[in-house]
This record gives sequence, structure tokens and C-alpha cells, in this order.
Amino acid sequence: MKVKVAINGYGVIGRRVADAVAKQDDMELVGVCKVSPDYKALFALDKGYKLFTTDEKSVEKFRKMGVEVSGTVVDMVKEADIIVDATPGDVGPQNKEMYAKASKKAIFQGGEEHELTGFSFVAQCNYNQALGRQFVRVVSCNTTGLCRVLNALDLAFGVEKARVVIARRAADPDEISRGPIDAVVLDPVTLPSHHGPDVKTVLPHINITTMALKVPTTHMHLHSLIVQLKDRTVTAERVRDVLRRTPRILLVNSKLGVKSTAHAYDIGREIGRERSDIFENIIWEDSITLEDYELYLFMGVHQEAIVIPENIDAIRAMFNLASSEQSIEKTNATLGIKSSMP
Ligand code: NAD
Repeated sequence: MKVKVAINGYGVIGRRVADAVAKQDDMELVGVCKVSPDYKALFALDKGYKLFTTDEKSVEKFRKMGVEVSGTVVDMVKEADIIVDATPGDVGPQNKEMYAKASKKAIFQGGEEHELTGFSFVAQCNYNQALGRQFVRVVSCNTTGLCRVLNALDLAFGVEKARVVIARRAADPDEISRGPIDAVVLDPVTLPSHHGPDVKTVLPHINITTMALKVPTTHMHLHSLIVQLKDRTVTAERVRDVLRRTPRILLVNSKLGVKSTAHAYDIGREIGRERSDIFENIIWEDSITLEDYELYLFMGVHQEAIVIPENIDAIRAMFNLASSEQSIEKTNATLGIKSSMP
């Protein structure tokens, strides 16, 4: 039996989750819900996806524009076993009522509060706790990246305390009205940024403080991590070995010319990924340094892509389709996720 998946909200995240679902042999994409009959709607139809929209008035709007529409979101929800809600943050609560009324499962994204579902997910950290759940929140891009690496370090060496400074891309590439264009914006000025507390929704025992600032770029966030490890015998080489063996982490080296987020993002283009997506944490292996028992490293996070595999694994967990290892392996294979450079 294939799980029938619908996508509500066809923006940066929704479009990518739809494409990823379409690649899974244990899932069927029943359709996507869009607000506007724009070019993205035409390309969705071209891919063979059924289009739904928010209400009857919008159905008329689509028809007037000559864009084929199969009904409203309520019709789409009826056809689905699970809805991946990728609407903008804070739209989730009203949609959750609709899903609950129809007795459907749903996944929400990191723009929603943890309290919306009471459970926040990162596949390699807490897959088993998602088994059979009705509602799950996949955490945001930065939190996903941090949880992957901190969980791996914690299991191998014990994390005493993590301190992280995040330089955030200010806007996604198509957000033409957002700035800044000539400033570094403290985001926020006071500590902590929301990322540290968000990591604790997945890994409650990790002692972490984060601070963040926005920089005028659109591709990738850049994390500077300083982590005190419990194991005082750790070497940089042992850290590299652990990270090399951790799924969804790709070690790169500045000696091979990867010296910036632009180069990291270029890897996605070079390997022919759809939309140049990078699903892996990019960690500079030559930044990994141990000094006075503290680990330092630089990490890049492609904000548009990193949470896509987690949405797929969350669907499998919620329907008990596979173990954590099986699901991660299957998702990695279907999305072409790399564990090492060639
Ligand atoms: P987006 O603005 O690119 O896409 C949201 C889409 O939902 C838009 O197409 C919008 O028209 C549509 N929409 C608005 N109201 C709707 C409604 N009531 N019903 C159906 N569709 C509706 O946003 P996004 O970047 O894809 O973010 C979606 C969620 O994913 C947010 O919770 C966000 O925090 C989270 N997220 C975003 C990123 C990122 O970097 N963009 C990364 C990780 C997580």
C-alpha cells in the first residue's frame, strides 16, 4: 500500500517536498494546494501534479486564467492519508483544525511553534518517537543542521556545551522585496536566538546557546560552532571520522577550492541536483580544530533543501513503513544524497 500524500502550500519547501514524494515507491502524491494560478502552477501541472486551491473563489480565479484545477483544499485533504503543510509560519494552527476534523495526519514545518504538535523531528535523532503519530513538526533548516551534527558528536564523545554563531542568508532567492542589501542585521540583538531553544525541542539534554545575524546573501546559512566535548581525549581526526560516517553530512575541503558558501552551493549545480539543492550539512573538514578541549568548525546549511529528507522520513515514521535506518537509507538513495566527495 502506498501512503497518499498531499502538499498544502507550494512555495520553497512545498515544491521540493512534492518532488521528493513523487520519487518514493511507497508514497503517492495526490496533489498540491496553491494560492495563485502562476508559472509555478503551470509547471506543477506539467509534472503531472493535480492542483488544488484554497476556496471556491480561487477555483474560479484559476479557471478564468485557464489553469486546470481539481478542487479546493478540502477536496485534496479528503483524498490524502497525510498532508505536508508547507504554508508560511503561523498558518498551521488553522489548518491543523481542518486536518483534525478530517481525521488525517499532518506534518508542519519549522516556522510553526513546537507546541502546535508537541513533537519536533529530525530523522537521525528521534525517528522512533515519531512512530504512529498524528501530528509532527519538522524543525527549521538551521535546527535540522545543528541537530544532525550535535547528535553525532554527543553519541560519540558527549557534548558538554555548544556555542554557535549563525550568519543567516537574509532572504530566499525569489524574495525580491526582502533586505537587507547593505547591512549586517543582528537577529536578534539579545541572546539567545531562537535556534538554541529549538534544538532542545529535539535534543532536550544538549546545553546550547546560539546567536544569529543576517547577511545580504540568498544561498545558505553559515554556522560557526564551538563545542566543549566530555571526552577530553578527542582529536580532530576522530571528529572527522565520526562526521564522515554520519548520514547527511558532507565534508568538504578548502584545499579543493571550497572556500565559501558560494562554492558549497556550486557543488549542487556541479552534480546536477534539481534546483541545485544541497540536502547535506556541508562541513569544512579543514576547519575542524581542537584547542583547549574545545572543538571548532564551520558548517553550511542550504536553507531551501536541508529539511526535505526529514519530511520524507517523517511520513514513513508516522505510518510505520520502515525502521529509521531503512527510511534514511531509502530517502538518501532516492534523493542522491552523498556521504563523501568523489
Ligand atoms: P513560502 O512563502 O516560499 O511558501 C509558502 C506557500 O504557501 C506560498 O506559495 C503561499 O502562497 C502559500 N500559502 C499561503 N497561505 C496559504 C494557505 N492558507 N493555504 C495554502 N497555501 C498557502 O514559504 P517557505 O519558505 O516554503 O516556508 C514554509 C514553511 O517552511 C515555514 O514554516 C518556514 O518557516 C519553513 N521553512 C522554510 C525554510 C526556508 O528557508 N525557506 C527552511 C526550512 C523551513
